[in-house]
Amino acid sequence: MTTITASEEQRVLDNVPKRLYIGGEWRDGSKGTFSVEDPAIGEPLCEIADASADDAKAALDAAVEAGAHWSQHPPRERGEILRRAFEAIIAREDELALLMTLEMGKPLKESKAEVAYGAEFLRWFSEQAVRIEGRYAVAPNGQGRLLTMQQPVGPCLLITPWNFPLAMGTRKIGPAIAAGCTMVVKPAQLTPLSMLALAKILEDAGLPSGVLNLVSATSSGETMGPLIADPRLRKLSFTGSTEVGKKLMEQASDNLLRLSMELGGNAPFIVFDDADVDDAVQGALIAKMRNIGEACTAANRFHVAESIAGPFAEKLAEKLGAMKVGRGTEDGVDVGPLIDQSQRSKVTELVDDAVGRGARPLVGGHAREGAGYFYDPTVLADVPDDANLLREEIFGPVAPVRAFDDEDEAIAAANATEYGLVAYVYTSNFKRALRVCERLETGMVGLNQGMVSNAAAPFGGIKQSGFGREGGPEGIQEYLETKYVAVNL
Ligand code: NAP
Repeated sequence: MTTITASEEQRVLDNVPKRLYIGGEWRDGSKGTFSVEDPAIGEPLCEIADASADDAKAALDAAVEAGAHWSQHPPRERGEILRRAFEAIIAREDELALLMTLEMGKPLKESKAEVAYGAEFLRWFSEQAVRIEGRYAVAPNGQGRLLTMQQPVGPCLLITPWNFPLAMGTRKIGPAIAAGCTMVVKPAQLTPLSMLALAKILEDAGLPSGVLNLVSATSSGETMGPLIADPRLRKLSFTGSTEVGKKLMEQASDNLLRLSMELGGNAPFIVFDDADVDDAVQGALIAKMRNIGEACTAANRFHVAESIAGPFAEKLAEKLGAMKVGRGTEDGVDVGPLIDQSQRSKVTELVDDAVGRGARPLVGGHAREGAGYFYDPTVLADVPDDANLLREEIFGPVAPVRAFDDEDEAIAAANATEYGLVAYVYTSNFKRALRVCERLETGMVGLNQGMVSNAAAPFGGIKQSGFGREGGPEGIQEYLETKYVAVNL
């Protein structure tokens, strides 16, 4: 790998459409433009269209108008559009990865992994489009027939966060297109470029006008509020913080919208004394450091059996300390910047709070001086029970380690959170593995592995991590309604 040149960066930025995509047309935003920043240097990359509430309404108008035809479009053709888009993404993997690194900061190798992961949802749902099935049954009294069909929900609003700029979109857009829904997509204002590039790819892949409309905006509440209140909207799928998710859910109650809520996490990573410590450290590295720790699935706290907690923390600190921090476009960089100053301040506050209460930094513990929003990879040992970072989502490269005495204590500690997205468990005892998986209050478990994301599996949480599933056979159900027809013979 060689370091990327400024002209390559400029070429990739020049290729992205920077306007709103509404009803098959690229048009200016009524509120002018806003700038997208490179978090590694804290400087603007480019300007993109800023939508008003009227622009957002025009996007919903287009989605509603396209809905009647799109819901009748042959499923095979819906699937083939997705398949063509999947192939186009893979063919342009390097360019899309660079774009993502520029706007979000993660190292190029991680951006490439997200491009592949994000594209995979389009491939998976291209295959699901032709597997939407119903049922035919004889009524129990033998007289009537019970016919069950599945139909597209209708116009959807899809709101996504900044941390996975492409995949958080394709997880929603793939099943919505496959199911025959139309949509308005609102990417995060910090990272809208990958989604704009995706909209262009879908347009080029033959997606009819109005099926997908993209609105980038600085005033998300002002632009999205009227859409959520519009009785023509049928569904809201949101990925983001629990705080915003709850607000949107409240707004959505007026129209009783179908909802999918992919919210925050506070994942425990449990290592039992029968685990292979080196394997567990390797898994911890992935679960903690993927996406610079800015993942809803990031291991937020490490609960390790007392007898191995010391060596585990030391080995993890050695690995994290050896990671190269820098701009994601540079050769050999493992850890990019955090997304902005406010995110870095939050990480700093959480670490300072833990250290103030007695936690011991084995490595890191500081923000980096200079341009960009860098924070050093950090391992904290002896983290006390009252440290705030055990309860709050850290969203940064910080690993707090705590020791436990027995299985019950480990499970109680893991479940002592309002969140319930994912947990990680390391053990070589099969019976214990199943016992613990059953008792964990989460939507997903990584068993002897530090990553769960897979387009073919149902991703999602319980408790304050939300509800609904993205990916797997379950993913398309979020975009389908069941209709029952009582047949008189
Ligand atoms: P966020 O602040 O909740 O924002 C998410 C999206 O909602 C952005 O597009 C944002 O727009 C928009 N938004 C904010 N306020 C809104 C409002 N009043 N009306 C309509 N839209 C509004 O979350 P974030 O900081 O971008 O993302 C980080 C969070 O996402 C973390 O908590 C993480 O755990 C969670 N996450 C969850 C999953 C999952 O699958 N469970 C996956 C990834 C991330 P602006 O950009 O304009 O603010």
